Amino acid sequence: MDPITFSGMYEAIKAVACLAKVAADAAVDHKVKEAIFKLQQGLYDLQAKALEDQQGRMTMLSQVDTLQKELDAIKDRRARLDLYELIKLEPGSFVYRSKDQAGVGPQHCACPNCFVQFERIAVLQVEAEVYGTTRYRCMSCQFEIFAGFQRDPPPIEYGRAPF
Ligand SMILES: [Zn+2]
Repeated sequence: MDPITFSGMYEAIKAVACLAKVAADAAVDHKVKEAIFKLQQGLYDLQAKALEDQQGRMTMLSQVDTLQKELDAIKDRRARLDLYELIKLEPGSFVYRSKDQAGVGPQHCACPNCFVQFERIAVLQVEAEVYGTTRYRCMSCQFEIFAGFQRDPPPIEYGRAPF
């Protein structure tokens, strides 16, 4: 029941209760007066129950509003995650990469740990490139992943000064 309808019903009950009081005051017969008094008590009870019911409805509406906001946030988060696809970086190593035309800036890779565990996009940053292997790190959860085949380091030439 919307607030305007409830307000109208509540005021109608209140008006009838007032009329019952006027009738009780005007009644001279003790039994009529007692019957009107009971009617008046019933109307007060009805009024209290209507108010309680309305408060319950308002609480439910507030909960529905909260749940709707949570659902909208989940839909937004899922829509952002749908802008990424799982790719194989190396055999057995997977990351999420922004899809072409995703509109999320230059194409980049996202941390698979943050993506799956927290449904969060955390860009993987290149931390080091050593002998053909690139080490990526998630600055959010510190996850690391390596790509590229490691080459042997250059041979150390003994007997030669390093400078
Ligand atoms: Zn991460």
